[in-house]
Amino acid sequence: MIDKYGRKINYLRISVTDRCNFRCRYCMPEEGVRALKHEDILSFEEILQFVKAVAPLGIERVRVTGGEPLVRKGIVEFINALSKINGIKDISMTTNGSMFKEMSKELKKAGLKRVNFSLDTLKAEKFSYITRRGKLGDVLEGIKEALNLGFNPVKINTVVAKGFNDDEIDDFAKLTIEYPLVIRFIELMPLGEGGWAKGRFISAQEIKSKIKSDLIKVENIEGSGPAEYFKLKNAKGFIGFITPISRHFCEKCNRIRLTADGKLKPCLASSKELDVKEVLRNNADMEQIQKAFGEALSIKPYSHNMKYDESTDYEETKRRMWQIGG
Ligand code: SAM
Ligand code: SF4
Repeated sequence: MIDKYGRKINYLRISVTDRCNFRCRYCMPEEGVRALKHEDILSFEEILQFVKAVAPLGIERVRVTGGEPLVRKGIVEFINALSKINGIKDISMTTNGSMFKEMSKELKKAGLKRVNFSLDTLKAEKFSYITRRGKLGDVLEGIKEALNLGFNPVKINTVVAKGFNDDEIDDFAKLTIEYPLVIRFIELMPLGEGGWAKGRFISAQEIKSKIKSDLIKVENIEGSGPAEYFKLKNAKGFIGFITPISRHFCEKCNRIRLTADGKLKPCLASSKELDVKEVLRNNADMEQIQKAFGEALSIKPYSHNMKYDESTDYEETKRRMWQIGG
């Protein structure tokens, strides 16, 4: 489907849960998180019904995210059912990686093609600090397993924050020499809780300047999305930069999001949403679901205006990343 600004929308991000076993400081508060009630979350059957309706409209790629997608019971069977839907050519997942190793073989068999791991530091103590609950070793094991099993590409999302991990940028970049990983540095967005991001923003330009070896520009890599990609000399992997703040990529945006509580969210940084849960729970036929999808696209803004106001978190959308599905 083409939106009113001429953008081809072929990519759906599905948040399957708002729950998470981590509490990353830039994303979730430590205490007091009120998880959605079971009945407020779309069932897997409802999500599948939605995807079956929008695949004929041109949705070809699906990313499963959360919260932490691997904490939701039945996720493997869900991926398997997704992969059987006509028209869905590519299924990927964004995960914190903590539970990936134990589920990796089943996920691969179920049809998962690509995985993005979120990893912000290579140091165990800093990892415990930023995630508040995670163990670095579990995630590293998950990443190794993904490479061994031939998931391709295996990407690492690294959110960079001043004074936290900006001293590790070159170490992350060097990983691409030995391993065929795609390391993507992401600008910290003011979409967390508790103001942790205050004073910690670093632009991609600055991040690049901390990589000591020459960056060689590459045009396109598999599933490249909005990142700009480079390579180090003789490297097996790639390095990407995602710039939601310093240079947003809205004019090329091909995505729409479905939240765990059944809202279609045409833009990450906007409060505009369309309730599709109500539609799905009212015995909707395919045409009604497609109509709701068309309505959601009609309110997709041309661009967001997410600013870095360091005194406060961005208020245009009240949802935070764990509630949106990054
Ligand atoms: N739990 C999974 C994970 O961490 O990969 C999936 C959901 S998480 C919300 C998706 C992505 O959003 C992660 O890569 C995370 O680092 C990123 N993210 C969360 N809060 C962010 C923020 N304030 N700025 C930039 N990226 C953020
Ligand atoms: Fe959980 Fe992912 Fe948010 Fe970290 S970034 S708290 S792992 S949802």
